[in-house]
Amino acid sequence: MTFNDLNLSKPLLDAIAEAGYTHPTDIQKNAIPLVLNGHDIIGSAQTGTGKTAAFSVPIIQLLEGETTNKIEALVVTPTRELAIQIGENVRQYAKYTSIKSAVIFGGVKQNKQVVDLKKGVHILIATPGRLLDLLDQGFINLNHIKYFVLDEADRMLDMGFIHDIKRIISKLPQRRQSLFFSATMPPKIKNLANDILYKPKHVRVNPVSSTAETITQYLYRTNKNLKHDVLLHLLKTEIDEPVLVFSRTKHGADRISRRLQKAR
Ligand code: AMP
Repeated sequence: MTFNDLNLSKPLLDAIAEAGYTHPTDIQKNAIPLVLNGHDIIGSAQTGTGKTAAFSVPIIQLLEGETTNKIEALVVTPTRELAIQIGENVRQYAKYTSIKSAVIFGGVKQNKQVVDLKKGVHILIATPGRLLDLLDQGFINLNHIKYFVLDEADRMLDMGFIHDIKRIISKLPQRRQSLFFSATMPPKIKNLANDILYKPKHVRVNPVSSTAETITQYLYRTNKNLKHDVLLHLLKTEIDEPVLVFSRTKHGADRISRRLQKAR
């Protein structure tokens, strides 16, 4: 399958080709037709699977030819880095269309973001705090939202954004298409999805393989109190190269570091 088989318009196909994509990823193959057909979506997919294009490309197509300057699509994502990255992708995919986008996030002065909003925006990409801030100040109106994307929902909950999310949702029109993405789907996330979505279609994508095939992995089973001895043993007898040791907590990392220094 190529992007030509997904019923996308020429401006989008041109932008996608320019981005260097030749074939749609699994989530793009699955989600793009569903979004174009008006379905709500619940997608378990991590960053790296191509999920940004999976939701933004069909939304751009659905909004294409838009002549008003109202915010009709809202993407909420937990961090400023993700917001910036999504914003860059959306701008790239929409570059041959009339669709305009803006990115807002906290931790910086709001002035430039307000100026961007005043120019007129169709797709708004936002982190929750700054979005509510600018909503409360009257710079944003969500009454015309047709498409709502909640990105990295599990991370959003981990970061304590649940109340912010609920407040944002309460300000959206009831009639809308919603797309919900989360890397994991614990019960809390499923409940939130049920609150937001209407008869959603499920889109699942296997996690991105994070290991290069050129790397050989070993697993050492050990008792907790022997871990440090095993590590020391490996460092002394097996390994000559520089080593990167990962630890779950910063205290654990301190402990490992102290032991290694003591053992020189
Ligand atoms: P995402 O999961 O949306 O963060 O995307 C991960 C990376 O894959 C980004 O750098 C995208 O530009 C890139 N990407 C997305 N879709 C494709 C595709 N169909 N072919 C090649 N690269 C892609």
